[in-house]
Amino acid sequence: MQRIDQIAALRAALAPMRRAGETIGLVPTMGYLHDGHLALVERACAECDRVVVTIFVNPTQFAPGEDLDAYPRDLAGDLERLSAYPVDFVFAPTVSEMYPEPMQAFVAAEPLGDILIGEQRPGHFRGVATVVTKLFNIVQPDRAYFGEKDFQQLAVIRRMVADLAMAVEIVAVPTVREADGLALSSRNVRLSPEDRAAAAVLARALDEGAAMIGAGEGDPDRVLAAMRATIEAEPRANLRSLDLRDPATLAPVTRIGARPVVMLVTANFGDVLLIDQRVVEGNDKGVTP
Ligand code: AMP
Repeated sequence: MQRIDQIAALRAALAPMRRAGETIGLVPTMGYLHDGHLALVERACAECDRVVVTIFVNPTQFAPGEDLDAYPRDLAGDLERLSAYPVDFVFAPTVSEMYPEPMQAFVAAEPLGDILIGEQRPGHFRGVATVVTKLFNIVQPDRAYFGEKDFQQLAVIRRMVADLAMAVEIVAVPTVREADGLALSSRNVRLSPEDRAAAAVLARALDEGAAMIGAGEGDPDRVLAAMRATIEAEPRANLRSLDLRDPATLAPVTRIGARPVVMLVTANFGDVLLIDQRVVEGNDKGVTP
């Protein structure tokens, strides 16, 4: 495993591998790696000849006043964790390597990136789409791996790749969770012990919604009301958004029928914003739209 900080050096290292016909997998991350990230790494290693893991806390996806400075970082620990996998390159550029000049060219998928979390975090998905495009251009991967946890991010990237005919296959990896259901996140270390315990309510609410749909509930408002009541019963949770959407378009669903739906939740615990999601197969008891 080789750590590379320069774009030119990474390109030079990958070129002969690509010429030799080896497949290249990319796992973009912001570091402070946990088992969720490592599930992506493991999958990439199993499916690709060469694997590049990137570690870059991308400033352009944080708005002023968000947690860019507080975002946890531990490059030495990350390298240690990655050394357990057959990763070829860890690309950990500086901000000035990625953005030597103020950017003038951007990529965005809109309106997909403006709704839901995009409403709470204006410009966030433009920052994500732009940095992911830049990483795709640097690495030119055959496959790139993303977590379902960041479901809207996955939808934005899939749409960007389709609309702009990018030659990369997007692979979605299921969310890795703690024993109590809390989705692993680099931000979890910033939770107080009380908030950490309380945060499991999000996964409980998603389970509850899934169970209702599985039992035949076809009315999204009833599902969402039950989930909202569960979350609001936890005084430490400050619910920011709760939605039930079509998994591909993220458009609102008026009736749950045979098609899958995704439940999306965001909530603050103290100043830490957590997000979670769950895709549920439809049910054959509701009315098919
Ligand atoms: P981040 O470092 O938060 O930008 O995440 C990097 C990648 O890891 C993204 O594709 C995330 O969706 C994915 N990821 C983060 N947490 C998890 C998790 N608990 N399970 C699976 N994938 C995750």
